[in-house]
Amino acid sequence: MRKGLLLGIVLILLLSLSMGTIYGASDSPTLILDGQVLQTPEPPVIRSGRTLLPAKVLFESMGGTVSWDAQLRKTTIALDDTTVELFIDSTTAYVNGEEKQLDVPATIISRRTYVPVNFVATQLGCEVLWNATDRTVTVNSPKEPVQVTDISVQQAGDTLRVQLSADSAIEGYRSVAYELPDRVVIDIKHAKLNFEDTDAAGSLGISNSVFSDVRYSQFDTDTVRAVIDLAVKQAPHVSLSQDKMSVYVDFTVDENSGDSSDDDNSDNDDGDNTSGEVLPDNGDGVINNPQLADLDLPQLDWRMQGQLIVIDPGHGGTDSGSLGYQNGSVILQEKTINLKVATRLNELLQMAGATTHMTRTDDSSVALYDRPEIANQLSAALFVSCHNNSNESATPHGTEVHYSNKESEADYNFRSQTVATFVMDELEKSMGLQRRGAKLSPSYAVIRCSNMPAIIIEGAFLSNPSDLQYMLTDQYVEDYALGAARGIIKALNASVN
Ligand SMILES: [Zn+2]
Repeated sequence: MRKGLLLGIVLILLLSLSMGTIYGASDSPTLILDGQVLQTPEPPVIRSGRTLLPAKVLFESMGGTVSWDAQLRKTTIALDDTTVELFIDSTTAYVNGEEKQLDVPATIISRRTYVPVNFVATQLGCEVLWNATDRTVTVNSPKEPVQVTDISVQQAGDTLRVQLSADSAIEGYRSVAYELPDRVVIDIKHAKLNFEDTDAAGSLGISNSVFSDVRYSQFDTDTVRAVIDLAVKQAPHVSLSQDKMSVYVDFTVDENSGDSSDDDNSDNDDGDNTSGEVLPDNGDGVINNPQLADLDLPQLDWRMQGQLIVIDPGHGGTDSGSLGYQNGSVILQEKTINLKVATRLNELLQMAGATTHMTRTDDSSVALYDRPEIANQLSAALFVSCHNNSNESATPHGTEVHYSNKESEADYNFRSQTVATFVMDELEKSMGLQRRGAKLSPSYAVIRCSNMPAIIIEGAFLSNPSDLQYMLTDQYVEDYALGAARGIIKALNASVN
C-alpha cells in the first residue's frame, strides 16, 4: 500500500516533469484574448523566440474556424474573410492563397497542432502584443469597423473640400479617378455607412463648377464608397485629418473659369499661362505644356494629378553624404548633386502636371526618419529619394534603383517595383551608364518607414573616376532628372491605363 502510493507519487512527479519539458509549463506564457485570460488545454510553448499554441481554442474563441487535413498535414484557420493555411514543419504558409514565409513553422506536440500565434493572429487582422516582463501574449480581436457618419462639402478660398467623417480613427482609404464618366472614387476600408438618418446608399444632391454630385454607399461588407461625379477633369488631393477621423478630398476651384462652356477663351486658358499664348488642347480638356514635347516628357494623366509625389534630396546640412575626390581633395559632395537633381526633377514633374513636395529645398539637415514621416503626414502617393552611390573600391559604377514590396503598398494604385523598373529603364536611356538594375531593398529606412510606394535612386558612383567626371557636368543633372521624371510619369500613367 505504502509502496503503491509512493510509486503513484513518483509516477505523477515524473509525468509532470516530462509535461513540463514538453510544454514548458513552468515558464509558459499567459495568453490574454480581448482582456481575458484564455485557458488552452495545453499551455503555449516558446520555440526560437516565438510563441506557439494549440490553434483551436484561441481562434474558435474569436468566432473563427480551425480545420485539419491529415493527408496534407495542413491546418486551415479562417476568420471573417481571411484564411491562413499552415503546413506542419513547413515555413511556407498561405494567406488567402498568397505565399508567405514563417520563421517558426507549425508543429505537432502530443498529437495537437501548435501554430505560431503572432503570425496567424496578425494575418487575421488581430493586434498581438508580447510582454516579456510578465510573460503574457495579448491578442486583441480585429477592431470593430469605423462608422462613417457624414459627408459634407465646404469651400475655403480656392479649395473646395468634400469631407468624409467617421466616429473613430480611419484605418485605411484609397482614392482612384476614372474616365467615362469622369469620377473620383474614395473607399474607406473596414467601415460601415451610418448617417444619422440612414445607412442606405444615396447622394448629397450638391453640384458646383467641379462636380455634379457626390454619391455614397456601403460598397461591400467592409468598405464605404463615395463617388464624386466630376464636371471637370480634375483629380483631387486626398488626405487624412490630423485626428484620422476624416478624409479630406480637396479640389482647386479655378476662379477664372466661368460656367459657360461656349466661351472658347476660358476653355483654353490655363491659369498658369500668363503669356496669353493659346496652348494646344490634347483633346481631353487637359492643357499640354509645349515644353513637354521638346523634353520628350509625357503629360501626367489627369487622374494621377492629385496624387502627391514627395521628392527627397538625400543628405544635406551637416550630412554631406558620399564624397568625390580628385588628387586627394574633395571636388563633389553627394548632398549638393542630390539637391540639384531633385530640384530639377521637382520642376519637371510639376511641368508634367504632378503635385509635388520636397523634403528640403536648400542645404539644411533633415533627420533620416523625418523624411518618410513627412511623406506619411502629407498622405503622399509616392516617395522618391534622390541619391548617388559610393564604394570603397573605385571599380563599381552605374545606376541602380531600390524599392520594396511592403504590405502597406497594397492600399495604393501602383507598386514601387513598377515605378523602380520604369525609372531604371528611363535612367539607362538618358544617362547611358551601366544598368545595375531595380533592386529589392526592404530594409532601407525611407523605404521601410514610408506607408506609400517608395524608391531610392542611386544615379552614379562618386567613387568611380569616370562616373564622377560626368557628375560634375550640368548634363548629368539634366539626364538624371529627366530620366527619373519620364520613368515616374510613365509608371503613374500605366497604372490608370
Ligand atoms: Zn546617399
